[in-house]
Amino acid sequence: MAQLWKGAPVAAALTEELSQRAQALVAKGITPTLAIVRVGERPEDLSYERGALKRCEKVGIAVRQYLLTAASSQTDLMEVIEEINRDDSIHGCLLFRPLPKHMDEAAICAALSPAKDVDGITAGSLAAVFSGSGAGYPPCTAQACLEILDHYGYELKGKRAVVVGRSLVIGKPVSMLLLGRHATVTICHTRTADLPAECRRADVLVAAAGKAGAVSAQCLAPGQVVLDVGINVDENGNLVGDVDFAAAENTVEAITPVPGGVGAVTTSVLARHVIEAAEKAIG
Ligand code: NAP
Repeated sequence: MAQLWKGAPVAAALTEELSQRAQALVAKGITPTLAIVRVGERPEDLSYERGALKRCEKVGIAVRQYLLTAASSQTDLMEVIEEINRDDSIHGCLLFRPLPKHMDEAAICAALSPAKDVDGITAGSLAAVFSGSGAGYPPCTAQACLEILDHYGYELKGKRAVVVGRSLVIGKPVSMLLLGRHATVTICHTRTADLPAECRRADVLVAAAGKAGAVSAQCLAPGQVVLDVGINVDENGNLVGDVDFAAAENTVEAITPVPGGVGAVTTSVLARHVIEAAEKAIG
């Protein structure tokens, strides 16, 4: 039976450390502050927002919410981003995406001050992830995968990592983070010729396809560690990942559950990035 690598203990450990750092900032007269910008009311945004609010409260991070209707204009949103950029009391900004189709998402992301980009949405942050310079913040979910591996004491050096998915939000940045830890990384996608064969070779398998069952029983092998990033709703209305969980439980060494795995760590990483940004702001 596979070990269940839950996110809660990882998040709890991070929260404990971050609360102390938040208190130290408050003692210096700084309240670490996150701006949350949401356009419209997509259920997945609302759910993540609730998690972020709860985590920030636990850590001691103040949150300012900027809520726009889905019919808002690009100019309305740009004004909000510029207001956040100008406000020195705000240290980080979480912008929910995708934005409505009538908005130029690339232009909005580019407008955010790199210093406040705590979720790796600007080109500068992504460049830092790809160059391995350490400047800028990686997307929180990609970083959450690394936090889980570290928490459970998994050594990546020399391991074969296979990532299913190549988005800029998860697949590509998590691949670069794994590479930065000296794993040998393969990135798979919808045109990969033989997904099961690629996946079976993995020591660490990261599933970020956004499709239930994309990582089937044929993709799994004994001894693997599987991080299931996918969040999908099955035909019964239940939240499921990308991996055939029943098969994985009986095959692999360890797997993160959905819900309660990677997603449970993402808001803690967000909180850490806000604390770091606040610490940097006071020099
Ligand atoms: P995305 O932009 O839709 O990208 C999905 C990627 O997976 C694409 O590169 C796609 O390949 C690939 N893919 C899709 N189906 C595949 C298949 N059957 N076989 C192989 N590759 C396949 O999604 P995303 O934004 O990266 O998100 C991925 C998942 O993570 C979603 O379920 C999302 O809800 C979840 N998520 C979780 C968290 C968290 O905190 N846990 C946070 C954010 C997102 P192509 O490039 O060839 O199309």
